[in-house]
Amino acid sequence: MKTLLIKQARICGRETDVLVENGKIARIEKGMKAKADKTIDGRGKVILPGFYNLHTHAAMTLLRGYAEDMELEDWLTKKIWPAEAKFNEDDIYWGTKLACLEMIKSGTVCFNDMYWHQEAALQAVTETGMRAFIGLTMIDGHPLGFHQDTNEVWEKIKNKQTDKIKFALAPHALYTVAEENLKWAARFAKVNNLLIHFHVSETEKEVDDCQKKYGLRPIEFLDKIGFLGPEVILAHSIWLAEKEIEILVKRKCHLVYNPTSNMKLSSGVMSFSRLKKGGINICLGTDSASSNNNLDMIEEMKLAAVLQKLANGQDIKVKDIFAAATRNGARALRLEGGIVKEGQTADFILIDTERLDFLPGFDLLNDLVFSASSECVDTVVCGGDVLMENREIKGEKELIGEIKKRYGRYPSPRD
Ligand SMILES: [Zn+2]
Repeated sequence: MKTLLIKQARICGRETDVLVENGKIARIEKGMKAKADKTIDGRGKVILPGFYNLHTHAAMTLLRGYAEDMELEDWLTKKIWPAEAKFNEDDIYWGTKLACLEMIKSGTVCFNDMYWHQEAALQAVTETGMRAFIGLTMIDGHPLGFHQDTNEVWEKIKNKQTDKIKFALAPHALYTVAEENLKWAARFAKVNNLLIHFHVSETEKEVDDCQKKYGLRPIEFLDKIGFLGPEVILAHSIWLAEKEIEILVKRKCHLVYNPTSNMKLSSGVMSFSRLKKGGINICLGTDSASSNNNLDMIEEMKLAAVLQKLANGQDIKVKDIFAAATRNGARALRLEGGIVKEGQTADFILIDTERLDFLPGFDLLNDLVFSASSECVDTVVCGGDVLMENREIKGEKELIGEIKKRYGRYPSPRD
């Protein structure tokens, strides 16, 4: 049995020890007399749940800073898709590794990804020890993502799922996947018990185009074709009418708020408080390092909070934003995580609260959301495995060296 002991850290303001056995939090108790394979000194640190980043395109770290000052459609069609067409499996492996490094450094334990070359991504994530849902991405006409190929990929990789790494079905969006293929996706997900990860109502134009094509708004259309259910995780979800919100409540879909990407691509602002009032589970995601331009959930929480305050008043509180970044994400992914409690999965982080950004220390969550930088993340534990300790990750220097050697040249990428 693999064991880990954290000594004298604080949980909810009280000093305590935490014993982890076989990936679960076995005991939380002050002054525990337990022996463990590994012991971490938690003095001056606070234990919090790790972050669940519910919408990423991990390997797009390779396109960070590549295309700026554009709106979504031009950005995708003129810059991103042509660049992505040049990526091979090897690129996806390194891009995903770089994303995992960045996510661990900022306290993320799990991410929900949508990209290509699933086996390369699987290998990269496995090596880092993170938890992830890797998307079986579908885009009509795409050489890697047409639905017949999705079936083939699934048959090839379905037995490679592990405790930490699962696959989800990821049809890209309404404007890239036709009606019959969305219906196929909904059936395929049900038969194989897969989550569905989808972009929807990100821009006003997407809604207008859907109305022209199908005579319905996106959520109405998706409901009509039987696509929606509790297994569906919808990124962006900005341009929603009241009747669409009612459908989302009824179908128990999960939504992902992506504030930085939405601001940067001039897409719009999610109506968090309206959705929350309906009881919808709202998670937080960074989207890609090309539209964000980082994968830092602490920064994302601040932007998530201040954007809501500017656009919608003071309905959304710090605790709502923290829940979106942690336990709401775990819930959407059907994981026992996002809470530090006995019996829960040991996905947690140690925060150094002796830093300037936590002084004088009126309220930990207020400081974490509005003041802290991700430099405060000292240690990251995922499923009982220590992924980072004292801000050090095994192999970090070598990975950065390799990335610089392969991609650190201009013009980029790959031209
Ligand atoms: Zn996205």
